[in-house]
Amino acid sequence: MQVFETTKALQHHLLTEIGSNKTVGFVPTMGALHVGHMSLVKKSLDSSDFTVVSIFVNPTQFNNNSDLEKYPRTLEHDIALIKSISEHVIIFVPTAEDLYAGNVKTQKFDFGVIEQQMEGKYRPGHFDGVGTVLTLLFDAVKPTKAFFGEKDYQQLQIVKKLVALKALDVEIIGCEIYRETSGLAYSSRNERLTAKQRNEAKLLYEILKAVKTNFGTKSVKEIQEMVINEFDKNDVFELEYFEIANAETLMSITEKEPNETYRAFLAVFAGEVRLIDNIALN
Ligand code: AMP
Repeated sequence: MQVFETTKALQHHLLTEIGSNKTVGFVPTMGALHVGHMSLVKKSLDSSDFTVVSIFVNPTQFNNNSDLEKYPRTLEHDIALIKSISEHVIIFVPTAEDLYAGNVKTQKFDFGVIEQQMEGKYRPGHFDGVGTVLTLLFDAVKPTKAFFGEKDYQQLQIVKKLVALKALDVEIIGCEIYRETSGLAYSSRNERLTAKQRNEAKLLYEILKAVKTNFGTKSVKEIQEMVINEFDKNDVFELEYFEIANAETLMSITEKEPNETYRAFLAVFAGEVRLIDNIALN
């Protein structure tokens, strides 16, 4: 198990140890790792000669300082969890000072309509921060493939757009959402839920499944009303947004069109903890 704390040390290792004909799979994370992250790591291990996992809580993608401060940091546990599935993963744990070469600044991107929806709308600047850190990480790791969870479906679309905008030579692989037996999507933020909130959190997936079941027969408006009603009845979660959106453009819809693919997305607050989830509808 090798852990690198600087870009220079990582690059030196990759250049000297990994031949140019070998494939490098990359899983960028913000740590507080769980089995959802491990499902990405396993995919990378299965399809790449070498796997790099980065653990870096990126300051430029947080639009809320308290969220950044309270983001769980569990490095020892993270390393042990990765080790439990493979001894051969290369772990990259840079400081902000190192990764940003002393200049922690957000670059601006034009991701088009995708960035104006949902997470982009409710977390201004978030996707510029994601684009900035991934530009730096891709440059450091130079991966053949990079693995991203559909848990952050909008982010996955943004990453594909980033790769197209910068003409990067990396294949982006989307990985399905890994859920607890209750249906709750694994998330680092789940650790911040109280026992009561965590117990009730199965509601999110139950609602998304009900949306999927009703998608063929009910109108978008009826489904929206149903979801808003469910959250009105519940005193643990406050709904920030619920959208049915085109799976490619992420623009929300009021009417279904034939031959288009849709997903439902939601963001809720449980106290100060913000959770997101989504589901494919057709
Ligand atoms: P994060 O550490 O939250 O930035 O997540 C790192 C990567 O893991 C992102 O590509 C996420 O979409 C992915 N991920 C997080 N939770 C899950 C999950 N429950 N299932 C699948 N992928 C996930």
